[in-house]
Amino acid sequence: MSNHSKWGKKKVLVTGGAGFLGSHLCERLLNEGNEVISVDNYFTGRKENIVHLEANNNFEAIRHDINNPLDIEVDEIYNLACPASPVHYQFDPVRTVQTCVTGSLNMLELAKRIGAKIFQASTSEVYGDPKEHPQKESYRGHVNPIGPRACYDEGKRCAETLFFDYHRQHGLDIKVVRIFNTYGPRMHPEDGRVVSNFIVQALQGQDITIYGDGSQTRSFCYADDLIEGFVRLMNAEAGVTGPMNIGNPHEVSVKELAERVVEMVGSKSKITYMPLPQDDPTQRCPDISQAKEKLDWQPQVPLEEGLKKTIDYFDSLLRA
Ligand code: NAD
Ligand code: UDP
Repeated sequence: MSNHSKWGKKKVLVTGGAGFLGSHLCERLLNEGNEVISVDNYFTGRKENIVHLEANNNFEAIRHDINNPLDIEVDEIYNLACPASPVHYQFDPVRTVQTCVTGSLNMLELAKRIGAKIFQASTSEVYGDPKEHPQKESYRGHVNPIGPRACYDEGKRCAETLFFDYHRQHGLDIKVVRIFNTYGPRMHPEDGRVVSNFIVQALQGQDITIYGDGSQTRSFCYADDLIEGFVRLMNAEAGVTGPMNIGNPHEVSVKELAERVVEMVGSKSKITYMPLPQDDPTQRCPDISQAKEKLDWQPQVPLEEGLKKTIDYFDSLLRA
């Protein structure tokens, strides 16, 4: 470990630190006694997600867009900055590609200059609409390079390329995680992803919007489980670079999810069907053998328990 911190503890940069996952990661790293710097441009992140951390002297939040170079001395970089919900990453697709590519390049250059270990939040979207099921890391994917999701899918694929080229060409210590659908408290109520949409709709008695016939599947991981996987991968020996799937292999259909949320909330909401967005993957489920073997990691929180915590979070947020 390089030692940019005065007192021996690690100094860690989290890009996208005010987002859903970034804020959980900052909190976890602070709880372990590290110094944490969040960098965020607040495109989809919120100050409310990190306001409770600001009393901690080990925490600092900087407003910065990673598309611009950053000069800062740290031991580790977690690169999470990027809109993650289809609605938000398709809002300004050119900017999404730029954040994945130029943003990642800026963070890799920083890591190279200061000798920091660097972690990339990649995604199951690199597999596109997968023809292999469940998805292993060796599967090369089925991505439409010119469709509406390509800004994110191809952007994240290119980011992985850059990480592995910096590793081979410049010897950078890299860690690449492929995140499968993750949910939990601190998702934005207007995030647009399925778990937060269904919960907010059910709590407000609005129609539940299923896109397509709801037979498409996803596998939902609770945020705390995912963050545990992140930290284990970052601390794994240098040879363990990933790409590594981190997610929950319990697969459910979108229709099943809708019915479960309505039942758990005790809502009178009706289910409505809307058109399926172009290139929406029909099935998704991680093969997590690598994470089990190399990190001794597997998710602990069942869907029912994670949904209950997330429903409680949105219930208090919407009442406030
Ligand atoms: P999020 O939208 O809540 O967080 C993303 C954060 O990045 C936000 O705070 C946003 O303001 C910030 N950001 C965006 N562009 C930026 C830029 N150019 N400069 C600085 N900050 C910027 O989403 P999330 O679910 O917390 O996702 C975090 C990361 O994990 C993303 O990279 C995403 O692609 C990846 N991921 C998440 C999931 C999931 O299910 N949650 C799945 C796959 C991958
Ligand atoms: N979805 C839905 N209703 C919504 C939001 C999403 O039926 O209100 C569907 C979406 O079409 C997809 C699945 O739920 O099939 C997961 O969508 P999400 O945007 O959460 O993530 P991703 O498609 O990136 O896995």
